[in-house]
Amino acid sequence: MMEQFLSIKAEAGDDALLFFRMGDFFELFFDDAVRAAAALDIALTKRGQHEGREIPMCGVPAHSAEGYLARLIAKGFRVAIADQVESPAEARKRGSKSVVKREIVRVVTPGTLTEESLLDARSANYLAAYAEAAGEAALAWCDMSAGGFHTAPVTAAALPAELARLNPAELILREGTEIAGNWPLSPLPKPNFDSSRGEAALKARFEIGALDGLGDFTRAEIAAAGALLAYLEATQMAAVPRLRAPQRQLPGGFMRIDAATRGSLELSRTAKGTRAGSLTACLDATVTAPGARQLSADLAAPLTDATEIAARLDLVAAFHAGGEVRERLRTALKEVPDLERALGRIAAGRGHPRDLGLIRDGLTRADQIRAHLKRATLMGPPPMLADLLATIGPHGELTGLLHAALVPEPGMNANEGGFIAEGYDHTLDEHRSLAKDARRHIAALEAEYRAQTGVEKLRIKHNNVLGYFIEVAPKHADGMMAADSTFAHRQTLANAVRFNSEQLAGLATRIAQAQGQALALEAKHFADLNAAVLTHAESIEATASALARIDVSAALSELAAQRGWVRPAVDDSHAFTITRGRHPVVEAAMKSGQFVANDCALERDGFVWLVTGPNMAGKSTFLRQNALIAVMAQAGSFVPADAAHIGVIDRLFSRVGASDNLAEGRSTFMVEMVETAAILNQATDRSLVILDEVGRGTSTYDGLSIAWAVLEAVHDGLRARCLFASHYHELTALEPRLDALRLATVRVREWKGDLVFLHEVTEGAADKSYGLAVARLAGLPGDTTARAAEVLAALEDTRDATGGIAAGLTELPLFAAAEPRAEVKDALREKLADTRPDELSPRAALDLIYELKRLA
Ligand code: ADP
Repeated sequence: MMEQFLSIKAEAGDDALLFFRMGDFFELFFDDAVRAAAALDIALTKRGQHEGREIPMCGVPAHSAEGYLARLIAKGFRVAIADQVESPAEARKRGSKSVVKREIVRVVTPGTLTEESLLDARSANYLAAYAEAAGEAALAWCDMSAGGFHTAPVTAAALPAELARLNPAELILREGTEIAGNWPLSPLPKPNFDSSRGEAALKARFEIGALDGLGDFTRAEIAAAGALLAYLEATQMAAVPRLRAPQRQLPGGFMRIDAATRGSLELSRTAKGTRAGSLTACLDATVTAPGARQLSADLAAPLTDATEIAARLDLVAAFHAGGEVRERLRTALKEVPDLERALGRIAAGRGHPRDLGLIRDGLTRADQIRAHLKRATLMGPPPMLADLLATIGPHGELTGLLHAALVPEPGMNANEGGFIAEGYDHTLDEHRSLAKDARRHIAALEAEYRAQTGVEKLRIKHNNVLGYFIEVAPKHADGMMAADSTFAHRQTLANAVRFNSEQLAGLATRIAQAQGQALALEAKHFADLNAAVLTHAESIEATASALARIDVSAALSELAAQRGWVRPAVDDSHAFTITRGRHPVVEAAMKSGQFVANDCALERDGFVWLVTGPNMAGKSTFLRQNALIAVMAQAGSFVPADAAHIGVIDRLFSRVGASDNLAEGRSTFMVEMVETAAILNQATDRSLVILDEVGRGTSTYDGLSIAWAVLEAVHDGLRARCLFASHYHELTALEPRLDALRLATVRVREWKGDLVFLHEVTEGAADKSYGLAVARLAGLPGDTTARAAEVLAALEDTRDATGGIAAGLTELPLFAAAEPRAEVKDALREKLADTRPDELSPRAALDLIYELKRLA
């Protein structure tokens, strides 16, 4: 057996722990055992010797292996599962000294999970692959538990943002590829990324002659999709799950939001890393798990097509107006199980009888919901709803079959049987009643034997080793043996002696046979029912995704009704006009009426707002609420405002200045500048840019200068809609020089020496920074603030005498940021200006050098 183990372990490789099935346990040996025992906090034992040394071993019970797997995967391990692929009896028949054949049946990795207990029901679990080919790059990704499969071309510059959007559980890439970000990586050897190989694999997998039918894929997309399929085959062995044919997602279809922006706006996670407190959590009133996953995906990738956005908004509006319809709908949706993942498990060959029950119940509910919505009179009626209803069922044939075949609540274990309903198969019923009869006979036999032997406490028992046996206390044993030849001795224990009888053995055999036959029949039905479900896989998937979309729309309209949100107008203008907007998350955490609503109008003649005001006044809240309103609107939700008009935003940027962290001050400031650079390089005149205290992470003079220059660059160069918050009121000196710059301030009032925050955004500039008042508010001791006031007075005197920190700024040449580039006309410079080094393959770079040489 050790020989077999070592050869399978070699196959599994060093980076995967090997779960080696032995009877009712999965055992781990050698180094695997040491690592797993530490990670799982279970006992490490020893077993036998190998090359003169004891072999470390640990094990987990097979029936509870899922829980241990979950913990190992969460700790970053991969686990190869070697199962027994024949019974001990079969092994004996082969004459192989009873070492049963074992094979790796699956490698469990974070991106290839399908088990309910290993997944978060409310978020997608993506396996992604990154590939480069023919000078381009691409991503492919799939959610194995739900069947979706996508590809997208991606530039080096956009890759971090794309990965941040997908948040893959596992990323496949070519060995040696460097990638920014903290993703769980699975490097594969180069041949897996060959695009011709990928093309062949895709054609074979989706049974098509040419890929054109699926879309106009780039070589890189094909390479990525191919690598993903190869990985699935390598980890899932025979049971590669069902995937839908890959769909392309073209850049431009979604609002681009990079990782830093997602983080600073807390779209899906808070700064602390929790889901609670994020925008997604705040907006999640969905009642089904697929609905929750759809909502997360919508918010991660807001749309940019005004027509598509309007279609989603129409549906929300219809449910918003139809309160009663919505309520009934949501009550019905609550009862719909997770069809996508039940189907995913069945397709991966890991389904339980319970999953068949889930499909049955889900489809039955779906039919009812469709009927309910068809009857309902809804405002509009929204065309999208008609399309959605058309993709739901009917599934009468399949649900009829499942209703007839299954008991009301089928269990988790197919091997135990008992999930096929009575009356579905007469032969099965007969075997079951035979077994039942025999059990009744055994009960009668016990009474008979007691009478016959006079032993009151004689019992007929059952265990897995002996099967059925008769048990008496040792003092009666002699009598039993002497009685006559009815009883044959089997086993003597300290406090019991066990016997058999011909009659009991006969009944036991009858039970075993009947049970065996019943189990075999149930197993066959199980396979047939799984196959029947899979023939309807496509329409089950379509039903599930239609229900998810309906759940999302109904949930958003529920929130809109509860929280007083309005439908935003989204079009292709450059407008950004929010009337009495609120911050959805901050407001939800407050008592109603406490949040102060504020307007924001980034018009063509005033598209950059400089918001000043003391710390704690509400600048960040105001900035973020406007970004969040944009995300919500383009994701197809109503928004927390009295009115909103938004011209489609192509990219959203949000940056928060590095806080003055002394320990890592230099590096956080560096990060801040790198991120600010990314904005200046990537934003367009359709983007929305939120800059909160940029430049804060360095000295006052540096910070002010950087903030000044960035503001000029956004205004003159990018011409992007922008909200810029700063406590440097010196910046307000820019106002007369930048024609589309507007000044806004968050009002505070000093009252009897205390500071009162009004949270009201009005036109104008903050008159001073109120730093001392805030310090007092924060509880800085009185003598310290008094001393600070003295220092401030002295500083202010010097400032007034010299013109202060902003002295000399008025003498700067106008339009400093928009340095004219007219004279740099020569071909060489032009060529260089068009070059994007990050997007060049090594080959293209070489070509470029030759071309530059020629131009020179
Ligand atoms: P700043 O960025 O100016 O330092 P914040 O935006 O962080 O200020 O706001 C400080 C606090 O004031 C927040 O924690 C929030 O509770 C409260 N606040 C901000 N804006 C509002 C508002 N519009 N209505 C009510 N409370 C607000």
